[in-house]
Amino acid sequence: MSQYYLPVGMRYSTLEERKQFYTQEFNPQKAAEWFSGGLGRTKFAVIIGRHTKIYPEKYKQDASTTIIIDEYKNIEDVRQQILEFLPEAVYYDRNLYDQNDNKISQELAFDLDPENITCPIHGTLADKMKRKQGLSFCEVELEMVKKETIGLYDFLETRFSDVRVVYSGRGFHLHVLDQKASLLSSEELLNLAQQAKQLGFHIDEWVTSGEFRLIRLPYSLNGLVSRIALPLRKDEIESFDAVHDERCLPQFLGKEVTF
Ligand SMILES: [Zn+2]
Repeated sequence: MSQYYLPVGMRYSTLEERKQFYTQEFNPQKAAEWFSGGLGRTKFAVIIGRHTKIYPEKYKQDASTTIIIDEYKNIEDVRQQILEFLPEAVYYDRNLYDQNDNKISQELAFDLDPENITCPIHGTLADKMKRKQGLSFCEVELEMVKKETIGLYDFLETRFSDVRVVYSGRGFHLHVLDQKASLLSSEELLNLAQQAKQLGFHIDEWVTSGEFRLIRLPYSLNGLVSRIALPLRKDEIESFDAVHDERCLPQFLGKEVTF
C-alpha cells in the first residue's frame, strides 16, 4: 500500500518491475541524446528506496542514500549500474565539471510540483505536510500545475531560446539549455526565481538556486508513481494526460490503467 494518495493508476513500482523496465524498456540512447553537448563528465545519481522503502535487501543500509554514478564507460554502462541498484529514482547532476572535477557551470532548471499547488480539495502544501501527505497529489493539482508550467514556459521564452519541458512523473521540469543561462551568477539566479515567484509561479527554489544539483533523468522510471519521465513539446503540455498517456506508461502496468 502506498503511503500517499495519488491519481488513479499511479503506484509504487516493485523491484521486479524496476528490473524489467531497465532491462527491456529503458532507452539509453534516448537518454544520452538529452545531453545535446554529449555526456562529457556528466554525473548520474540514484536513490534506491528513500520514499518507497522498496530496495534490494543487500542495499538496506544505503536505501535512502544518494548514490553518485560518476565512473562509467558509456551510457550502456550507466544502465548496467542502474540495474545493479534497482532504484526508485535516477537523476543527473546539473553541474558541468572540467577534467579536475571543478564545476564549470550549471544547467538552469525549474521544478513545478503538484504538491506545491493549493488544491481546492486538499489545501496548501502546509495542510498536506500536517497530514504527512507532502508527496501526495491529485488530478486537480496536476491540471493546475500544467497551467503553471505553460505560464512559466512563456515567461522563460522571453529571456531564453532553448527551453525544454519534461513530465517528471509528478509535476514538470523546465530546463533552460541556453549557454548564457548556465553561466548566471547565483545572485542572477535568485533574481530570476524571485521574478517568477512575483508573477505567481510556485517553483521549488532548491532547484533554481542550485543548492540541489540533481534532476530526474529524462526517460527514466519514476518508481513512486510508475511513470516514465517524458520530454514534451510546449504545444503538447495543455492536452497532456499523465494518467493515460501511453508514452509515459511502463509496459509492466499492462491493463492496470483502464481507458
Ligand atoms: Zn488535491
